[in-house]
Amino acid sequence: MKKSHIYGPVPSRRLGLSLGVDIIPFKVCTLDCIYCQLGPTTKKTTEIKDYFSKKEIISQIKKRINTASRIDYITFSGSGEPTLNSKIGPLIKEIKKFTDIPVAVLTNSTLLTKKKVRESLKEADLVVPSLDAATQDVFENINRPHPSLKIKRIIEGIKKFREEFKGDLRLEIILVKGINDSDSHIKALRQAVNEIKPDKVQLNTVIRPPSEKYAHPLTRKEMEKIKNAIGKNCEIVAHFKRKGLTPEEENLHNIILDMICRRPVTVEDISGSLGRHKNEILKYIDMLKREGKIKAVTYENNDYYEPK
Ligand code: SF4
Repeated sequence: MKKSHIYGPVPSRRLGLSLGVDIIPFKVCTLDCIYCQLGPTTKKTTEIKDYFSKKEIISQIKKRINTASRIDYITFSGSGEPTLNSKIGPLIKEIKKFTDIPVAVLTNSTLLTKKKVRESLKEADLVVPSLDAATQDVFENINRPHPSLKIKRIIEGIKKFREEFKGDLRLEIILVKGINDSDSHIKALRQAVNEIKPDKVQLNTVIRPPSEKYAHPLTRKEMEKIKNAIGKNCEIVAHFKRKGLTPEEENLHNIILDMICRRPVTVEDISGSLGRHKNEILKYIDMLKREGKIKAVTYENNDYYEPK
């Protein structure tokens, strides 16, 4: 069976209706973040490879663009770190030839140390690099990196990218209670932010079921305090309002709720039966949880969803 490289368009808290493009095999990543919504990293690597056919990915994007009623961004994100795919640059270039829809890349920043990777992202309209740690010990605790990765070099890499990149650069920080939210660490993060000079800083916390149960979210009040400490251009990523859903998404939202009301199901069950990407399903699960319609229950190490 051919891998589906696209999902959505799905409502995103940051990007409106985003068409996700997934160019990495499931959970191949340079990191293994304790808050990762996709579960543990199956292959931790820094090796950049040509994973999938560029022609096939482009054909799937074109097909979806032609049928979707609205797409605000074409977004490279997905099952792992997108810059591990050596074709990301040529893919962005190719997309720019056939559509005006802006292209976004969500990256964990670790490979921005490489000139080739920075070059490959330069034609994107928006890049959202993440930075959860400013010291090596916090980096190791929260992101559990490949042993070759050093946070100092990564911060240097983001700074260089900022200087070279002409588009919109929004730095994302995911805050985990008791892990990267101490006053001294926030001070170190603020220093890094001041050096990087992103267009915006977006604060986020653990919203979806994390890879590790000890990864807990911060409260809104705690987030506000950190937002003020980081300074100007810093925002807490607002929740997406359901009002913006297209009829097609409204339909999918209701189908998923119906499935959950019939019997407890996992994300994999829903994804398999609807033929949709896991990441897409996770967005709707997130929305239904926020609406107070469903809850997660754990049984034999699997997360099931059932009505609340
Ligand atoms: S959150 Fe992103 S960077 Fe972290 S392990 Fe998951 S896919 Fe990799």
